[in-house]
Amino acid sequence: MTTAFVTGISGQDGTILAAALAAEGCAVHGLVRSLDEAAAHRERVPAGITYHVGELTDHARVAAILRDVAPDEVYNLAGISSVAFSWDQPVLTGDVSGLGAVGVFDAAWRHQEESGRAVRVAQASSAEIFGRPDRVPQDESTAIRPISPYGAAKAYAHQMAAIYRTRGLHVATCILYNHESPWRPATFVTRKITHAAARIAQKGVGVLTLGDITVRRDWGWAPDYVDAMVRAVRHMTPDDFVVATGHTHTVAEFVEAAMVRAGVEDWRRHVVTDQNLARPADVPVMVGDWTRARDVLGWQPTVPFEEIVARMVDHDLELVRLEP
Ligand code: NAP
Repeated sequence: MTTAFVTGISGQDGTILAAALAAEGCAVHGLVRSLDEAAAHRERVPAGITYHVGELTDHARVAAILRDVAPDEVYNLAGISSVAFSWDQPVLTGDVSGLGAVGVFDAAWRHQEESGRAVRVAQASSAEIFGRPDRVPQDESTAIRPISPYGAAKAYAHQMAAIYRTRGLHVATCILYNHESPWRPATFVTRKITHAAARIAQKGVGVLTLGDITVRRDWGWAPDYVDAMVRAVRHMTPDDFVVATGHTHTVAEFVEAAMVRAGVEDWRRHVVTDQNLARPADVPVMVGDWTRARDVLGWQPTVPFEEIVARMVDHDLELVRLEP
């Protein structure tokens, strides 16, 4: 039986991954920051997951857990996942998403050295490592030139993954473009939009305030991206893989798709833009070339943009309907 250790298990991707691994019969262990978090998470995933309390920044604790769990596969998904938040908390972002990842690689490498058992690691890397790329679409050879604290922390982890590869650790990185699902926290723009669309549709009132709605993003379906990470870690050769759809849509198009799906007529009067909400350095277009993931891993995105928006809106309509 495969034993997997998942950091960030309570997040969007961690929740999807934990359920997928449990369904295929893996022994799943997850890192959480508190017992309360573990209890809440237990409600959302199949039974049988083992939780370990610890902070990713506590490298000794992470190493001790990893030694105890003795995993075959490690998925490092924990991190500060919001670019916007990283501008407020650059030091914490570097600590968690940069050094925290290296702590995981180092713990896995040391465990492998001491036990003589191979450990495979997947690192959730990000398209934000490319910053403002001069190449469209981006692929695995695009220059790494981050322009945000989040991107810089992810870039450091990404480059350290390559360094641990040279030391004999099997670390695959997935350079993930934006991926969405109903598990996306409401602090992210996509979920903010789908939730607002659902509220406006059902209550008839409400305003959706957004920053720059002209930026284009490459949005995929989160379970597909989790599947890519599993394929990457299990592939015989560890490598970097861009995980994207190759298609872009503007935030404005996301809003329109969500409002139409929710059934909001005359939706434009519910949307206002506030340039204060725009990020200090927003990139106009991000789009990934996922050819390597297709050719090497046999991976492909399976859910088109309109369907992703529809699934999120339908979920939020149901949530709003159940509100007291
Ligand atoms: P998410 O929903 O924000 O989940 C992040 C997870 O990290 C949460 O479980 C969080 O736990 C945990 N975490 C944060 N700080 C921690 C710490 N100090 N110690 C231990 N755990 C900590 O993120 P996601 O969307 O699932 O993304 C998964 C990974 O993919 C992240 O590394 C993200 O940066 C990367 N990524 C995501 C996207 C995307 O579009 N979703 C795109 C590119 C890259 P708490 O709940 O306790 O905070």
